[in-house]
Amino acid sequence: MTKWKYTKGLHDLGNGCWGYLVPDGSWGWSNAGLIADGEATLLVDTLFDLKCTGDMLAEMRNAVPASEKIGILVNTHADGDHTFGNQLVKGARIIGTEGTVSDFNRFDPKVLLAVQNDPKKFGRSGEFMAECFRPFDFSGIELTPPTETFKDRMTIKVGNKTVELIEVGPSHSLGDALIYVPEDKVLYTGDILFSAGTPIAWYGPIARWINVCNMVLDMDVEIIVAGHGPLSTKEDVRKMRDYLLDITEKARPFYEQGVDYLDAAYKIDLGEYRDWNDAERVVVTLRTLYDDFDNAPVRPTRVPIPFFEQMKDMRESLGKPPVHHEYCSHDHHDH
Ligand SMILES: [Zn+2]
Repeated sequence: MTKWKYTKGLHDLGNGCWGYLVPDGSWGWSNAGLIADGEATLLVDTLFDLKCTGDMLAEMRNAVPASEKIGILVNTHADGDHTFGNQLVKGARIIGTEGTVSDFNRFDPKVLLAVQNDPKKFGRSGEFMAECFRPFDFSGIELTPPTETFKDRMTIKVGNKTVELIEVGPSHSLGDALIYVPEDKVLYTGDILFSAGTPIAWYGPIARWINVCNMVLDMDVEIIVAGHGPLSTKEDVRKMRDYLLDITEKARPFYEQGVDYLDAAYKIDLGEYRDWNDAERVVVTLRTLYDDFDNAPVRPTRVPIPFFEQMKDMRESLGKPPVHHEYCSHDHHDH
C-alpha cells in the first residue's frame, strides 16, 4: 500500500482508527491498534515487553488523550508478542476467545528470561530463541490474560462505533480472533495475516486458516493492520493465502512418500517465497500440515507440539538450503 509508510509508531487510518506498527515484523516485532470515539477507547493487543508497550501507550496518549485510560483491551491471540504488555493497561476490560485464555501459558516470560540468561542450557531451541528474542526484555512481566471471553462473534460499542470481534481459531494459534470496524472498513487481524513475512502455523489446521483468508477476502475491508508487517490490503491476504496453499500442495507428495517433515522442509522448493523473512518457519507449518494430513483432530484435542520442539526444529533447519534465513546465516558452520 503505497499511501502508508512502514515506519515505527502510530499511523492514523482516519475516523478514530489507528495502527501501531513495529518494523521489521520479524520475530517478536508485532503490531497493535487503537480504536477511539469520544472518550471511549479500544486497544488491539499489547507488545512483547514492558518497554515496547510503555512507549506505544505514551505515543497513543499524545495522539489520542482519551487513551490515557483504555476502556477495552482485546487480544487477537495469546502469543507473548501480542499480550506481554497487558499488565500496563490498568483498569481495562480484557477480552479474548476461550482459546486465547487456555493458550496463555504457552509463552512464559520467566522461561524466556531463563533462556536469555543461559541459552545453552536449553539446547538448540535455546540458542535459536535467544537469537530471535535478543532485543526484548522479559523482566517484570506478569501474565495478564483476558478476563472476559467470547465464542464465535461479539459486537461491542466503542463510543458510537460498532466493533465486531470474530473468532477464527484455531488456525495460526488456538484462539485467533479478528477485530473489525465495518463502518470504517478497517480490520485488525492479529497473526492471521503476516504481511511481507513468512506465516507460521503453531496450531492449524492449515485448511481452516486458508478458509479464514478467503472469508477476509469476501469482507468489506479496505485497510488491514496485520499482526506483523506494514499496513496491508486484501492483496496481502491473497498472497499469504497462496503461500499456505502452495506449501500444502508441495508437502502432500512428501507426506505420501513417508518423507519426514524436517527432510521435506529441506527438499521443498519455496520458489518465490524463499526470500520472505523467517523462511525457516515453514518447518513448523509443515509439521502442522503433517498432523492435518493424518486427520488428527483439531488441537487442543490433539496433543499440541511443545513450543521448544518447534523452535528446535527451526534451529535445525537453518542454513540447510532451501530453507534459508539470512538473519542467522552466520550459524551455517554448525552444519
Ligand atoms: Zn505475533
